[in-house]
Amino acid sequence: MRKKIIAGNWKMNMTPNETLKLIGTLKPLVSGAGADVVFCVPAIDIPAAVNATKDTDIAIGAQNMYHADSGAFTGEISAPMLTDAGVRYVIIGHSERREYFAETNEGVNKKVLKALEFGLVPIVCCGETLTQREQGVTIDFVRQQLKIAFLGVDAKAAKGVVIAYEPIWAIGTGKVATCEQAQAVCGAIRALIAELYGPDTAAAIRIQYGGSVTADSAAELFGQPDIDGGLVGGASLKADFGNIVNYK
Ligand code: PEP
Repeated sequence: MRKKIIAGNWKMNMTPNETLKLIGTLKPLVSGAGADVVFCVPAIDIPAAVNATKDTDIAIGAQNMYHADSGAFTGEISAPMLTDAGVRYVIIGHSERREYFAETNEGVNKKVLKALEFGLVPIVCCGETLTQREQGVTIDFVRQQLKIAFLGVDAKAAKGVVIAYEPIWAIGTGKVATCEQAQAVCGAIRALIAELYGPDTAAAIRIQYGGSVTADSAAELFGQPDIDGGLVGGASLKADFGNIVNYK
């Protein structure tokens, strides 16, 4: 039985002071949830978020990291910096990073390997554009993204990775995928993991859906057999996130 995992992706929102306020609001709303709860906050907010959640089950995640341990990479943040700061999860390969910051599947793979080396749980994002969906290549495209992302990851490590299936056309658009669409791709992702690593790893790995999830759509989406929770953008910045985490 896989434990659900519901992560908020705050994107580039909230100052450190606003972080304290938002966590103060969300803490009582998400406490005692049956799911793992993660807040993926901007890098500058990590100390405030870690401190504000230290007496709770809420885990803090980052939204990106670089694949080197240290060095002349101005503006970047490394895996050991994140772990030292108390971060447990890191989103890797979000479509916004692929689109605006030219992240490639190969770069995603390097980051996944480095995150695992330092004990961070990577939340590996994948998902197709609307054009790709209309061309009927969604599954091929997502398989390719993930096959490359997992290169060099062994079965034991793969079990601990979280995959977030996020159709790009559903992110921030208010256009949520239907349960059938989301389940079809998440099922295909689990089949790919079975091909790569065998049935035990496929049964253990957690696959999230992301894309305009709200409290209204959460229960049906998270009730699908291959959907183990969600990666939530816009709605994670509001009290409604409590209803998503406590979906029924
Ligand atoms: C996201 O950015 O990962 C996301 C799913 O955003 P939204 O929920 O706002 O569509």
